[in-house]
This record gives sequence, structure tokens and C-alpha cells, in this order.
Amino acid sequence: KPTVVLIVGMAGTGKTTLLQRLNSHLHTVGKPPYVVNLDPAVTHVPYGPNIDIRDTVDYKNVMKQYGLGPNGGILTSCNLFATRFDQVIELCESKTDLDYILVDTAGQIEIFTWSASGAIITEAFASSFPTVVVYIVDTPRCTSPQTFMSNMLQAVSILYKTKLPLILAFNKVDVAKHDFAIEWMEDFEKFQEAIDSDSSYAASLSRSLCMVLDEFYRKLQSVGVSAYTGEGMPEFFEAVAGGAREYDSTYKVELERRK
Ligand code: GDP
Ligand code: MG
Repeated sequence: KPTVVLIVGMAGTGKTTLLQRLNSHLHTVGKPPYVVNLDPAVTHVPYGPNIDIRDTVDYKNVMKQYGLGPNGGILTSCNLFATRFDQVIELCESKTDLDYILVDTAGQIEIFTWSASGAIITEAFASSFPTVVVYIVDTPRCTSPQTFMSNMLQAVSILYKTKLPLILAFNKVDVAKHDFAIEWMEDFEKFQEAIDSDSSYAASLSRSLCMVLDEFYRKLQSVGVSAYTGEGMPEFFEAVAGGAREYDSTYKVELERRK
């Protein structure tokens, strides 16, 4: 069975560009993926999606019809699409000789991670295929200890919400290397040193949190990638394979227990 790779991350972290890179990498190695776009508001998709939410719902029409603003329009479009998601799963299941299903999500992360449609779509995939969540981090924008910490808390909440294997993908390593992040995750004292000069409340909270997060970091796989240069592709797919094994030994076992 193919592995589903769900790409999530804050707006502008590079989800769409990375998906394009993953797609072209997989074509090069002779394993063309099945690609799903779940962002109803994207104007330009730089890869050729096999399934595109925009073919089913027109988000501008949804805004007009229901009198909604942009965010409400995107959310409602995703909800409408989710009601027909069984058809997407059927299409995916009909494909043979497929190794990967890549899924791009809407710009605003909470629309996917904190909505009914996001939960329905995630569970639909995860009950049919080995599924891993890739949380994209904008590396150049999280070099300060506190933005790094808030990013990690966001990742933890996604892990709690989905209970699926999670991979941290530090994107844009062509601009800033992710070594600092690895160092902070491997050794919380290094993180504390980085935050040492700051005596604010938030900084002292960060100092305590980093010890708690130690356990979380140990369970995670993290890779540095660049959607621009293609750096980190082999490592990325190794992490996905690791995630798929973890799915088999955790999520799938739980699924079968519940049957
Ligand atoms: P999304 O909102 O998460 O889908 O982000 P996009 O894929 O639309 O990318 C947001 C911005 O980041 C765009 O200007 C991209 O060109 C840029 N970007 C994406 N990936 C990379 C990367 O690996 N390196 C650099 N330097 N910029 C990137
Ligand atoms: Mg995008």
C-alpha cells in the first residue's frame, strides 16, 4: 500500500513548493506519486495534481453564496469537500503500483489541524493507508529560541490531535542551516544557554518547556530540506519510511484493536 504524506505547516513555510520538489524527485527515481491538492484558495499550483479540491468547489462562489470572508470561505470549501472524501479514498485505492500519495493542505494551518474537515480527511487517509504527517518549519524564521519554541508547541499539538507519526521538516536550509535546531533538540542545556540573556516571562517559560519537550523530540524524526535546491530528499524519504513503520506498529494496531 502507498504511504500518505500529509504536508502541514504555517502559511508561507513552503508546503506547496516542497510538494513540487518531492513530486519531481519521485519522478526522477521512477516512483511517480499520486498528488492531492486540498488548498481551495491557491491560485497557482506548480505541480500537476491528480486530485484538486478546486475542481469540486469554487471558494469564491462559496464566499458569495454563504456571505463569508476568505477564511470562512476556505473552511466551508474544505467542509464541503470532506463530505465527498470517500470518493477520493476510492480513487487512491484504485491505483496500483503506487508508493506515495502526497497531500498539500490549505495555507492557514488551523484550517486543516483544527477543523472537522481536517479531522475527517486525516482519519479517512489513516484508516486506509499508512499515513505520516510532515510538519514544515520555516527554518530562517525560527532561529530565535522563542519562535523556535512556539513552533515546536504547534508541532506537539498536531501530534496530540492526529496521533500519527510526525516528521519535522526544516525547510529553506538553502537560506539558514537547521543545525541550531538539532542542537537545541538534542541538548536542552544548549537551548537554555541561547535563551540565557533573556529574563522575560516568556523566556523563563521556554526554559521550563524545553525540558518537558525533551521526550517529544526523542520520538520525532527531523530532517533539513530545501524545496529550492532539493537538498535532503533521500533523508526525507528515509524519515517517511520510518514514519510508515511507526504507523504499522502504533496507529494500525490501535485501529485493529478497535474493530
Ligand atoms: P505555503 O504557503 O506553505 O504553500 O508556501 P509556498 O510553497 O507558497 O512558499 C512560500 C514562499 O517561500 C515562496 O515565496 C517560496 O518561493 C518560498 N520558498 C519555499 N521553499 C523554499 C526554500 O526551500 N528555500 C527558499 N529560499 N525559499 C522557499
Ligand atoms: Mg501552499
